Amino acid sequence: MKLILLTIVTITTLVFLTGCGKKEEVPVVKETAPAFEIKKGNKIPQFDSLLAFELVAKQVAFGPRVSGTPAWAATKEFLSNRLVQAGAIVKHQDFEARVPTGETLKFTNLIGSFNPQAEKRILLCAHWDSRPHADQEADSGKHKQPIPGANDGASGTGVLLALADVLGANKLDYGVDIVLFDAEDYGRSGSLEGYCIGSKYFAANNPLTQKPVFGILLDLVGDKEAIYMREEGSVRFAGDVVDLVWKFGQSEGNTRFKDFVSQPVYDDHIPLNEVGIRTINIIDAGLIGADSKDPRRNYWHTLKDDMSNISATTLYDLGKVLTGFLYSLKIN
Ligand SMILES: [Zn+2]
Repeated sequence: MKLILLTIVTITTLVFLTGCGKKEEVPVVKETAPAFEIKKGNKIPQFDSLLAFELVAKQVAFGPRVSGTPAWAATKEFLSNRLVQAGAIVKHQDFEARVPTGETLKFTNLIGSFNPQAEKRILLCAHWDSRPHADQEADSGKHKQPIPGANDGASGTGVLLALADVLGANKLDYGVDIVLFDAEDYGRSGSLEGYCIGSKYFAANNPLTQKPVFGILLDLVGDKEAIYMREEGSVRFAGDVVDLVWKFGQSEGNTRFKDFVSQPVYDDHIPLNEVGIRTINIIDAGLIGADSKDPRRNYWHTLKDDMSNISATTLYDLGKVLTGFLYSLKIN
C-alpha cells in the first residue's frame, strides 16, 4: 500500500539573487519518515481461525465471566496460561473497584508482553469479562442474569489469544502487549461510570514500561455478518491509525471494513486515549442497542449473545487482516 503521510522530498538549498542584490535562501526541508507505515512483501504467518473459534467457545463454556464466580477464576487462569504457553511474559494487574450495585469487587487485567525488550511497541486489547446483567432482555425478569458474552468480550479475546500463538512463533522487530481488560461491562444505561472499570484502572496505573506507539481494541468482532465501520471516537483520537488499518483491510479484499463513520462508542479505548495512548476500536457498532432490522442480530446485552451468532469465517477475515497488518507494519 502506498502511504502518502509525511514523506517530504528533500529540497536542496536554492540560492538566488533578488532585484536589489540581496541573497534569499529557501529553507531546507528535511526528509521525515512517518512514525509508522505499511510495507508489504513480508512473509505473513497463518492465523488459525478454527483455534480462535474454539477459544471463544472455551470462554463461553466456562460460564459468564463475572467477578467472584468460579467461571471468572477458571477463565482467568486459562487465559493467563494460554498467554504464557504462547511465549508471553504475563502480568496480572489485580485491583478492587466499586461497581454500580455499590459492591466492591476484585478484578484482574491480564497483560501478555511479546518481545519485552523492544522499545517500540504496540498494544492490542479486548475485554475478558462478561456483562453481569442482561438488561436488554424484553423480559425484565431476566435482567439480573449474566450474559454468555460470546461476542461481547469472548470474541475479541479469542482473536487475540489465537494471535498470541502467531506472535510467539514468528518474531516481529517491535514489541506487542496484549491486554485483556476485566470489568468493562458493569455499566447501567444512562451512565458511563460503571463501564470500562478495568481500562480506567489500567490507564491510571499503567503497568507498561514503554508507551505504545498506538493501540487496537477489539470488541463485538465475531458476528456472522460483522461489519466494522470507522468508529467516531477512534477517528477523533487516532484517525491516522484507523485509516492505516481500514485501508490495509480493504486492500486485502476484506469487505467488512467500511468507510462510514459509526456513532461514538464508549469503550475501553476511551480511557486509554484520555491518557495519551492513541487507540482505535474495531467494533461491529451496528449491534449496539439491539435494534437491528435483522432479528438475529438483536442480542446485544441479552442472554442470546451466545455461540450461535459467532462465525469462524468472520474470525478468519479479521484475524487474517490483523496478522497481515502486524507483519507488514514498520515502526520507524
Ligand atoms: Zn457489552
